[in-house]
Amino acid sequence: MIGTVYLVGAGPGDPELITVRGLHLLQCADVVLYDRLIAPELLSHARADAELIDVGKMPYMRQKRDQNAINALLIEKARTNQSVVRLKGGDPFVFGRGGEEALACEAAGVPFVIVPGVSSAIAVPAYAGIPVTHRDYNAAFTVFAGHEDPNKDESLIDYEALACAARIGTLVLLMGVVNLPHIVACLIAAGLAADTPAACIERGTFADQRVVESRLEALPECVRAAGIHAPATTVIGQVVNLRAMGLRWFAESDR
Ligand code: SAH
Repeated sequence: MIGTVYLVGAGPGDPELITVRGLHLLQCADVVLYDRLIAPELLSHARADAELIDVGKMPYMRQKRDQNAINALLIEKARTNQSVVRLKGGDPFVFGRGGEEALACEAAGVPFVIVPGVSSAIAVPAYAGIPVTHRDYNAAFTVFAGHEDPNKDESLIDYEALACAARIGTLVLLMGVVNLPHIVACLIAAGLAADTPAACIERGTFADQRVVESRLEALPECVRAAGIHAPATTVIGQVVNLRAMGLRWFAESDR
């Protein structure tokens, strides 16, 4: 017998933001391998006799060998169980290494299914009252990851291209709290206006969500002063103003 691996998006935080299909698969799974950012309440939907495995890692500590170990475990569990759910934060294919895990399954001859999830890239701004697009302001949005090493000579991020993209749309930065001062400085140096509206949202969609809003230039200092930590999503662009224009709807924490 060989089982199936289901790469399931758990949504960004609020446990109700998993899809109906994701929830059904979670309820039926023999084995669930889950990430650090998963809402703990979600695991209560698993069968009482399901094997639950925490494969979460701290940010910046994720090594290639850890990912290889997760891939190997997925394959091993699929060889002895019918249904293996790999529960991942947000959407499995948005900075989630879902592609790597699916390729590993494919190489091992293990059938896999992708169940997309609600990505924090869109949902976290939405819970802060910020639509990533609005036709009065833009026609695109660009999602990028900010966990590059600022000490490396060669930047992995093309800031000139991002500054260009910001002219027609919103920028959404994931995994960018620690490097925010560096990233903001590079964006401004590449031509992005220092007074572009910006917001950083910590633990978006959770009951203790916090939002810091400021001009781009001042954002790193505001984020530092507020003690914002990962997981946080940063939004840069005119759409941020819509929050103050009446779109703020979710009760936020002042902690
Ligand atoms: N696959 C995920 C993203 C994984 S990368 C998705 O589609 O949402 C992890 C990053 O996502 C975090 O560093 C943070 O930038 C963002 N993130 C995830 N959950 C978040 C949350 N509840 N609030 C704010 N940002 C979040």
